[in-house]
Amino acid sequence: MRAFEATEHYFDLAAEHLKIEGAQREALLMPLRSVNVRVTIERDDGSLSSYVGFRVQHNHFRGPMKGGLRYHPEVDLDEVRSMASLMTWKTAVVDLPYGGAKGGIGVDPSELSTREIERLTRAFVDQIHDIVGPDTDIPAPDMGTDHRVMAWFRNQWEKYHGFNPSVITGKPVEEYGAKGREEATGRGVGALTVKLTKRLGRIAEKTNIAIQGFGNVGSHAAKYLSEAQFPIVAVSDVSGTYYDPNGLKIGELLHHKLNQPSGLLEGYTGCQILPVGDLLELDDVEVLIPAALGGVITQENVDRIKASVIVEAANGPIWPEADKELEARGVTVLPDILANAGGVTVSYFEWVQNRQHYRWTLDRVRQELDHTMNQAFETVWQTSQQTNLSLRTAAYIIGITRVQRAAELAGFASA
Ligand code: NAD
Repeated sequence: MRAFEATEHYFDLAAEHLKIEGAQREALLMPLRSVNVRVTIERDDGSLSSYVGFRVQHNHFRGPMKGGLRYHPEVDLDEVRSMASLMTWKTAVVDLPYGGAKGGIGVDPSELSTREIERLTRAFVDQIHDIVGPDTDIPAPDMGTDHRVMAWFRNQWEKYHGFNPSVITGKPVEEYGAKGREEATGRGVGALTVKLTKRLGRIAEKTNIAIQGFGNVGSHAAKYLSEAQFPIVAVSDVSGTYYDPNGLKIGELLHHKLNQPSGLLEGYTGCQILPVGDLLELDDVEVLIPAALGGVITQENVDRIKASVIVEAANGPIWPEADKELEARGVTVLPDILANAGGVTVSYFEWVQNRQHYRWTLDRVRQELDHTMNQAFETVWQTSQQTNLSLRTAAYIIGITRVQRAAELAGFASA
């Protein structure tokens, strides 16, 4: 199955419930604009390399489109379309005045030097600067991109259009970024995991957690949840699975990662080290948090997954066939469009601050983030209880209803 097909499937389950059919369904699901560009850079040794870059603007009925930029070898148009669509429903579920977009470049950033990544980013902006902007489409970080990439993006875009830091979010704090943006997605995942497990009657100290991916999202979620007294028994990154049945020392792992030039956990010796794929299938895990790639829980491995709660920190980690089976088994899945919405929420706060030329304190950012995530959780939870549908379908119902309402108010054809 392709990524966009999977998103379409989840959309359809909710659209069916809402009785949205035909032309309206098409208008809500079809991306507004898809662009792919060639990005050519000069390498440090003087040779040339070319890559394909994408920007998909999915929907603008509720406001300027918003979505991350991913640098990863598996980035293709289908994946970007799927993630752009997820952004439309995600911004609507947390009720931000945005539509959805996504972009990326099919490249392995670990094979490029810092200067090469800078040149790549600037060359990408040269190709797409006229279709993004503070009132049209506002990019942000995703896998393989960080605050430095955002700073280069902004700098290059401003060469064409003049000073306007609100063109992109996830910038360094010293460069018009927002305090708390870097931790936001992981914090949101952590806060909702606490809320959900409490709602399901679980006790933190007795609820083992495993987190796939120890990058931006996974590491911040691990920190939040270990501070909330949950035993984190396993984390993984591309270098392996790091496992301790009595709970890992998350502070030590974070310290180790920070001091590695690769940013990986490679070389950490304070626990058992298992093959990278083992994390998903561990026996003693109640809450599984995929926080790396999409499509990792499939029909092929779903039978071996023991967790009774899955929190989708990554975008699209569960294929529909596997999702169906998990639902039949009574596994509770907190869907990506709610679970990982903390990042876009604080991106919105950054955009607001940039437009007002005013800075919020970290406390204010955290308070407003917690409030937004809590409200969205409650709305999704209540809808799920009232309709007897999964949390995923409930979240889609809320997102689609809000987007459809905006389109109806403006007129579908002219919105
Ligand atoms: P990142 O690049 O900072 O980290 C990715 C991590 O996943 C790294 O530790 C990497 O080693 C690991 N990884 C990659 N392949 C793996 C595999 N096969 N097994 C185990 N680990 C693997 O990326 P990120 O920003 O943390 O994003 C992670 C996920 O969260 C993505 O799906 C992204 O779309 C989603 N997300 C991110 C944000 C954000 O604000 N960064 C917001 C919303 C959603």
